[in-house]
Amino acid sequence: MQITGQCHCGAISFTALVDPSRVIVCHCADCQVFSGAPFRAVLPVPAEQVQLTGTPTHYVKVAASGNRRVQAFCPACGTQLYASEADGPPKLLNLRLGCVAEREQLTPSVQIWGVSAMPWAGALEAVPLHREGMASPLMQPHAPG
Ligand SMILES: [Zn+2]
Ligand SMILES: [Zn+2]
Repeated sequence: MQITGQCHCGAISFTALVDPSRVIVCHCADCQVFSGAPFRAVLPVPAEQVQLTGTPTHYVKVAASGNRRVQAFCPACGTQLYASEADGPPKLLNLRLGCVAEREQLTPSVQIWGVSAMPWAGALEAVPLHREGMASPLMQPHAPG
């Protein structure tokens, strides 16, 4: 399917032709830290099927194994856009699902790194869910981030 996406400020945008059956939820510790969230959803796409507008900043993550991965994000607003191989032209971009406009239609088919998953990640359906942010008394008097 054809998708579009952009960072929060709009300086970087993309279109891509993706396989919607390939969405992954990753619970690894690096995804938790980079995303600031308990897990991250990722959509791997061949690089030649992605048209990018704008210039992301690259941070190269070096794993304990020595594996080097580019983490691409918007230098203006910090939105994470994708990860890719660090050496040579990238073959595969792991798009961050959060910046994809059609993300509601892109249901994950697998979860990985369960070893570091939050023990409560699978129990969220049982937690009270308000339609909007400030309805919960737990949010008062704090402003949402
Ligand atoms: Zn931006
Ligand atoms: Zn991960």
